[in-house]
Amino acid sequence: MSSPAAVRVVIHGAAGEVTGSCTEIITPSARLLIDFGMFQGGPEQEPRNTILPPLDFASLNAVVVTHAHVDHCGRLGMLAKLGFHGPVLCTEPTAALLPRVMLSSATLQQTRVHEHRDGTAPTSRILAPEHLVTSIPIRSAPPIVLFTHRHAEAVVRLLRAVPYQSWERIADGVDCRFHFASHVIGAASVEVRVQIPGRARPAHLLFSGDLGPIVNPLLAPHQWPDDAPDLVVMESTNGARRFSAADRTEAFFDIMAQARRGQQRVLVPTFALGRAQTLLQLLASASRAGVLDGMPVYLDSAMAVRATELYARSPTELAESAHADCMRGVNPLHFPELHSLLSRRESEAIDQVRSGCVVLAGSGFCDAGPILRHLRLSIDQPDARVLLTGHQLDGLLGHGLLHGATRVEINGAALDVKARVDRIEGVSGHADADDLLEWLRRMPALPKTVVLNHGAEQGRAAIAADVRSLGVANVLLPGIGQQIEVI
Ligand SMILES: [Zn+2]
Repeated sequence: MSSPAAVRVVIHGAAGEVTGSCTEIITPSARLLIDFGMFQGGPEQEPRNTILPPLDFASLNAVVVTHAHVDHCGRLGMLAKLGFHGPVLCTEPTAALLPRVMLSSATLQQTRVHEHRDGTAPTSRILAPEHLVTSIPIRSAPPIVLFTHRHAEAVVRLLRAVPYQSWERIADGVDCRFHFASHVIGAASVEVRVQIPGRARPAHLLFSGDLGPIVNPLLAPHQWPDDAPDLVVMESTNGARRFSAADRTEAFFDIMAQARRGQQRVLVPTFALGRAQTLLQLLASASRAGVLDGMPVYLDSAMAVRATELYARSPTELAESAHADCMRGVNPLHFPELHSLLSRRESEAIDQVRSGCVVLAGSGFCDAGPILRHLRLSIDQPDARVLLTGHQLDGLLGHGLLHGATRVEINGAALDVKARVDRIEGVSGHADADDLLEWLRRMPALPKTVVLNHGAEQGRAAIAADVRSLGVANVLLPGIGQQIEVI
């Protein structure tokens, strides 16, 4: 039995997986939600987004958003229609990004209904080798619309931007504040303090959100609470991986130099927020080093273009050298070879480019967006390359290409894979295992309890062992719906 005064945390998503982040905090005087993310991974995951956490949304005191990635914010657009009309707290850059993220998600959901009706939905699958073959899931019902423009607009009106490090009162005795998480622009860890009647000391919780590397060349470094939390909920996406930034840069420069010499077309599937800007920073340094030498780079994503502009407008969010660039009027993510494409017409115009070039386009999982068209045009060409960065979801085209697919079907065309497929680690914006441990070590003291979420089972298990050996007594790997008592 829980004590009536207990502070509890309930995990509603991203338990043993990397999407659907959603955690509830229940205190004697308030209930709040940290993140309300979408489950991702193809059509078979979609119905999970209609299964709501068993809670009364109308009576939540606040929803706190760690950052503007869809796996953390993708279901926010449903909040108003679920009866929630309280504040949605986030940092200023996240508040600048969320309206576009929510409204374009509403547009996309509606577009997919039309595509289903007209039989024009984008499709992709692996045809060979045998062990990688995937089928196109047959939809018996139209794609699900979680929320419309009108619903999203109602939630946009609830957004409340809070400066980093500034305590915000959520309810009597319940306060929260944001710390830099160095993951993408606006990303924050969330510290929560809860005064409990009859206790001298407040309950003290910290939610990592997604964490970036400890040494991040683009974003400002992490911030930590002033004293040790009782409980930390920490992401574990890369809990079983370790990267070298130097190796990454060298491999990236090699690929670009080969592409320039061989007049190759390099397709880089990317996400609009975070991954795209990390790639642009690498490309900007390749440009400065003379590696690109005029080879054009196309950023084929309006969302990525807008997010990149936000980086340049937010110098306090940036690492020291990028901040210094901004201060002297230099955009750290711009370089002469870069062309930003904002429309489908501009995107289709580069189909005619025959010289060596680099195309950054979404989605990062190769399951939708302009990258599918680029792949269909180039995957059977020996002078094309596909550069994969970061995690690929099982069952999707990017995962198949990564694991040696030799024949694929894209939007109805069966194609031999003749393009060279490369992978570079450490571009995802996520901390690796050493960074995660270092983030814990840099707390004023180790927490008593660490709850690992947002990681596949293998990643969670690996980092759990490391966290225990750091000296944390209680390391938990909860499932969906599990409640954890804090005090
Ligand atoms: Zn993220």
